[in-house]
Amino acid sequence: AWRRLCPSPADVLGFDCDAPPPQAAALLERRQRHFARPQKNYYRNPPEIERGWKEHLFDVEGRAYLDMVNNVTIVGHGHPRLSAAVGRQWSLLNTNSRFHYAAVAEFSERIAALAPEGLDTVFLVNSGSEANDLAIRLAWAHSGARTMLSLLEAYHGWTVASDAVSTSIADNPQALTTRPDWVHPVVSPNTYRGPYRGQGSTGDYVGAVTTKLKELDEKGESLAGFICEAVYGNAGGIPLPPGYLEAVYQMVRARGGICIADEVQVGYGRLGHHFWGFEEQGVVPDVITVAKGMGNGHPLGAVITRREIADALEKEGYFFSSSGGSPVSSVVGLTVLDILHDEALQENARTVGDHLRDRLQALAQRFPIVGAVHGMGLYLGVEFVRDRETLEPATEETAAICDRLLDLGVIMQPTGDHLNVLKIKPPLCLSRESADFFADMLARVLEEGW
Ligand code: PLP
Repeated sequence: AWRRLCPSPADVLGFDCDAPPPQAAALLERRQRHFARPQKNYYRNPPEIERGWKEHLFDVEGRAYLDMVNNVTIVGHGHPRLSAAVGRQWSLLNTNSRFHYAAVAEFSERIAALAPEGLDTVFLVNSGSEANDLAIRLAWAHSGARTMLSLLEAYHGWTVASDAVSTSIADNPQALTTRPDWVHPVVSPNTYRGPYRGQGSTGDYVGAVTTKLKELDEKGESLAGFICEAVYGNAGGIPLPPGYLEAVYQMVRARGGICIADEVQVGYGRLGHHFWGFEEQGVVPDVITVAKGMGNGHPLGAVITRREIADALEKEGYFFSSSGGSPVSSVVGLTVLDILHDEALQENARTVGDHLRDRLQALAQRFPIVGAVHGMGLYLGVEFVRDRETLEPATEETAAICDRLLDLGVIMQPTGDHLNVLKIKPPLCLSRESADFFADMLARVLEEGW
């Protein structure tokens, strides 16, 4: 039914949709030969994607796929309004950020207006990693200290400082051995498989932070700041325990540190109920970092903070990004915001996300391998386990399920430190029909085996 909703050349030409695209293996080989770092390949027959439309992707053979892992292209693929705005701006001007340009000022204004009161100062950059590096520099400059707290199993980027606070071993197996001494990771409040599972108390996770801070106090080490996502992203969107951020923010601020909310993945309406992830916890951070969906795939990121924190950077260093917030980037950013608003995509993330979550919960009732369904809005995780008591991760099974889903026209990848979670983060324009298609295909794979 879904294929009929979204006709592809395959349907029109009667192409054999089940045949693996022949170019893909050769393309992968070419890619591996010239890419500096081999890319992870999750599939037996990775497709060669040629174009996209809304939440759909099409390979060179015209085979259609549902894109369930795209946390970047939030307004959907091939959006005509975005193409028109970018084309127009490219033909007018694109240049570095030294020149005064109306779209850049307007974009900064719009971003500041979306942030909580007081966070009215915006740096424009090109990626989430850059945004987090800059946020850490702000923490250093503002506090005069170096020490940062971050959560175990988190991912914040690949640049020097953001990589240092990233401790996800799925993204970087060396994360825990190569960490510099100014980073202190604390137990991540993963209420599903974390160390205080079953004990059910927020206090245990907050207590872990208290203990770490006491250790630092005893050593006379002052604190620069704390960085985390408002839901535990790496494991497929596990909400932090209620009150967690409020308690931790209070302790960090009492020591002169600043609180950074990494909204690169969870911000911009993806969680459905709120525009920003930290709103789920009822807190206001000192610094917000944002990227990914902000540019719908175009390199664009931002750091939003208070004037006094931004000014601290002036005292200690220099900030200039040649292309950060260029006229084209700013027009992309403005158009994405317009589309989000006009197409009510945050609301769509909430309603379609709630529906999809119900469908997935129903699968958890039927199939013991579905250990839990995490997340909210269009940021969901399906965690596969071999045993619901021991939570032994079903890693190989998850890889096989993804491969089988690909055969059925769904693009999905394993994630989490055990690669046993389907992390669902489609474009926010995902239709209810597409959500049903995904749930139907997952049910089919779980029924048939993989
Ligand atoms: N922060 C989070 C939570 C992320 O998920 C990512 C990327 O996956 C980043 C930061 C880094 O963003 P980028 O890849 O744009 O540098």
